[in-house]
Amino acid sequence: MKEYTSLTVRLNTKDKESLIGFSIRLAQANGLFSLKDLFSPSQINCFSKGSLSEIDYYWLRNILKKEVTYTNTQQKLFNHPLYKFNRLTNPKVCIQCLKERHIHQDHWQNIHKLKCDIHHTQLITQCHSCKAPLEWGFPLLIGRCTNTRCLQPLVEMTLSIPPNISPQEIDDCLLVAQNINSRNEFNPKKSSHCELKDFNQALLMGYKALNDKKVFQSEIIEPLITHRVNQSAYPAKVKLLKLSQIISQLQSDWPISRWLSAIYQKRVSNQKGNCECPPLVIQARLIRETCDLTHTDLKALHQAKILKYNNYNKNNYPQTTLDISPLFQSLVSSSQSTSSSLKSLEELKPEFECYRTPMHALIIAMLKAKIRFYYHLKMDLMSSLLVDKHELIKFCKSWLQTHDETKLSLDDFVKVFDVDDEAFRDIKMSLGINAKYHPTSVSIYKRLAESINLSLNYI
Ligand SMILES: [Zn+2]
Ligand SMILES: [Zn+2]
Repeated sequence: MKEYTSLTVRLNTKDKESLIGFSIRLAQANGLFSLKDLFSPSQINCFSKGSLSEIDYYWLRNILKKEVTYTNTQQKLFNHPLYKFNRLTNPKVCIQCLKERHIHQDHWQNIHKLKCDIHHTQLITQCHSCKAPLEWGFPLLIGRCTNTRCLQPLVEMTLSIPPNISPQEIDDCLLVAQNINSRNEFNPKKSSHCELKDFNQALLMGYKALNDKKVFQSEIIEPLITHRVNQSAYPAKVKLLKLSQIISQLQSDWPISRWLSAIYQKRVSNQKGNCECPPLVIQARLIRETCDLTHTDLKALHQAKILKYNNYNKNNYPQTTLDISPLFQSLVSSSQSTSSSLKSLEELKPEFECYRTPMHALIIAMLKAKIRFYYHLKMDLMSSLLVDKHELIKFCKSWLQTHDETKLSLDDFVKVFDVDDEAFRDIKMSLGINAKYHPTSVSIYKRLAESINLSLNYI
């Protein structure tokens, strides 16, 4: 065995490179026969004193067939085999990156990492041709299968879940998969490390459960209600009897879109069109945050009976809850597809901001068919409502004209009503020196415009 100090060729580590990847490059550059030849006993001691990652520890132990000290500094996520080791021991790679740089990146080994940040392709752990799991070896760094009888160039494989799934959603899926598995008395091998195929399988199972209304009801909601789950993966506070309580507890742990998705699917699968929506109770504060509604919006929607305050308490507002099922029921049933190119309210927000039209006015207008829209469930209300830009702006403009006391800055007024430069100067003069920055009500602008015989660009 050689000491690193006696190696002919020395290399520097590259950005984001893993210890293993670096060692492979180093051994290869020095013409060594295998990785084992790279390390002397004294170097192994050095390694064991350093802070090794879990993956490096397993790798060193496997490749050197020798116990190596490892102190775990990473926090264990959950008591789930998938989480026990949140790094994979066998390589996981982006083929494109390997072809371009020949560097194995450390963060690929993270279990939450499903795709390459640069190429947006799925990371792989297996050869498509011989189906062998990838190993640490020289061919890996040039993007080839490490099975010496195969050595085929690696190709991408498809994943049946969306590539843009967030870490939060991955956690949700895994928790649900664990819940389903534990009830079926599935007993995963203890202390075995997690391979990507097991991980993907669990992920897919959880994903399907969360996105299929029937499975969602039978595998998640009912067991929770009937207490069939003794060792629930969910936090203790979730083990409640009433569905409404479970929902209100769960929604703080789960993305709201999961619930809405479940309701939506139930609505779609119900041929008779009777939408049986479970009571969707949510804290007023949360609906404001997730749907970008203001306090006034909520009150207006309550008055229009589009959502319902359950226990409005001015002195204890954080405890105030809302039943939002009527809102989503109406949005789903009023939704109409149009042929024009549609954009979400979220995307259009910067463009209609100067029209000062509150969110509740838009929702009510949509439900009264004054704005055509298409409802396509996404993370929140603003991104779920798709509208035609011109129709939206037309509505906002007419809304503004009937709400004379709405305050606008002079810049916004000029933009909305297409005021020309000369009129702009006149209005500014009449209002005083700081007019540009002080919000003024539409009625005052209109009066001034009339006094200088300016015909505003009304609809
Ligand atoms: Zn890549
Ligand atoms: Zn192969």
